[in-house]
Amino acid sequence: MHDAIVVGSGPNGLAAAIVLARAGRSVLVLEGRETIGGGLRTEELTLPGFRHDTCSAIHPLGIASPFMRSVPLGEHGVEWIQPPAPLAHPLDGGAAVVLERSLPATVAGLGTDGEAWRRLFEPLVTASDDLVAGTLAGPRPPRHPLHMARFGRSALRSASGLARSRFDGERARALFAGNAAHAMLPLEATATASFGLILAMLGHAVGWPLPRGGSQAIADALASYLRSLGGEIETGHTVASLDEVRAEAGLVLLDVTPRQFLALAGDEVPARYRRALEKYRYGPGVVKIDYALSGPVPWAASDCARAATVHVGGTLDEIAAAEADVSAGRIPARPYVLVAQQSLFDATRAPAGSHTLWAYTHVPNGSTRTDEAVTAIEAQLERFAPGFRDLVLARSILDPAALEAQNPNYVGGDIAGGSADLRQLFARPVARPNPYRTPIDGVYLCSSSTPPGGGVHGMCGYHAARAALRR
Ligand SMILES: Cc1cc2nc3c(=O)[nH]c(=O)nc-3n(C[C@H](O)[C@H](O)[C@H](O)COP(=O)(O)OP(=O)(O)OC[C@H]3O[C@@H](n4cnc5c(N)ncnc54)[C@H](O)[C@@H]3O)c2cc1C
Repeated sequence: MHDAIVVGSGPNGLAAAIVLARAGRSVLVLEGRETIGGGLRTEELTLPGFRHDTCSAIHPLGIASPFMRSVPLGEHGVEWIQPPAPLAHPLDGGAAVVLERSLPATVAGLGTDGEAWRRLFEPLVTASDDLVAGTLAGPRPPRHPLHMARFGRSALRSASGLARSRFDGERARALFAGNAAHAMLPLEATATASFGLILAMLGHAVGWPLPRGGSQAIADALASYLRSLGGEIETGHTVASLDEVRAEAGLVLLDVTPRQFLALAGDEVPARYRRALEKYRYGPGVVKIDYALSGPVPWAASDCARAATVHVGGTLDEIAAAEADVSAGRIPARPYVLVAQQSLFDATRAPAGSHTLWAYTHVPNGSTRTDEAVTAIEAQLERFAPGFRDLVLARSILDPAALEAQNPNYVGGDIAGGSADLRQLFARPVARPNPYRTPIDGVYLCSSSTPPGGGVHGMCGYHAARAALRR
């Protein structure tokens, strides 16, 4: 018997377990896979010696998260690597626009839009701690209402509306669009600007780092810290029904999405709550490719080699068209591709002289048109890095079905635990004062399907565990 059982060892499951263990509760984490981590995994997906981040790679939210900051990650093996620049965004003609750590350096690279970038981001960077706390706070009144109100005025706008009204040139518009497209929504959708604002602000305030050795290092550190607090973890244990764990612990926290919760809980779920969860919307899926390369990517714009993250997709108009296609059920011919080149900054990822590359694009939820997406991703890489294809030694492809088979939380390939549209940004998974608590006594949801949503920050688990402790 334990005080609490946590089902799932993603960052949110491990965070929940840590908060409970810190409060003196005995905790057992049950993980279905043989390895822990959920979206924090590093594996040899292609060739021996090439270590790929199967899911998450770059961690602005991880380094900024109040929960992660409360964990002695460094003592448990996490070493953050800050690339010279957080992000590069290539454009046609061999040019690139760069999000530099330094706000003035970014401003200098944006020409006539530099001053507008400064006006938009300087107040956010100055208030970054409060804004991070506010946006990752969960459903609570903000502690810094003035900062949040000023942020909200811009954040609630559509990304394309904000970019077009603030910037005149392609460079700043494209840079903003690439950040905002992490929302996995059409860039015309309300509140998509919030993603662009938060991610670019974090680039200036804390950087976009990667952990040496791979994202698995974060999961291993969280697990090591949990064990130091007396917590236990059992892998290879898929929980098939809620009854199975409720018999063993008074508190159960589920690092799963609404669809899995309904399957686990069966008839116990009251009809009204079940109906509300059945309406929960999942977002687009992804097609991801990991490459083993014989050399670094031959970007036409040399600045791209200074950044671990590269947004490949061209102009604001092109990225907006690509995301609109995905939302309309189409595979874009010129997709928005998120790229990470970890091995340029971390020699542990590939044999000497060789490199890894991590790339994914958004596709309609559950899409089976994998070949089309792969062709489109590679055409975009070749467009901005001519000769790229000649370097490919091996590749591993994960499509929506493969992702969901690896982790049932990726429903239809949705890596964010549900759409982050305006409604589900706030009412996640349902509109309730305490969204973590389910109507079943002692049972809580703690995954990215709860506030504040997707990304490696652990804050969903943190808030869920605190709600459970208040019970
Ligand atoms: C390709 C890809 C790229 C990404 N890139 C980034 C990035 O660069 N930066 C970033 O911040 N985020 C990124 N993310 C998103 C991030 O990984 C997720 O938002 C985050 O992992 C969600 O954490 P979680 O704890 O809610 O769920 P998950 O990490 O999905 O963990 C859930 C865990 O629960 C287990 N589980 C589920 N059901 C059961 C059951 N019945 N019994 C036992 N165990 C069960 C699963 O096996 C899994 O281990 C990416 C994700 C993907 C897939």
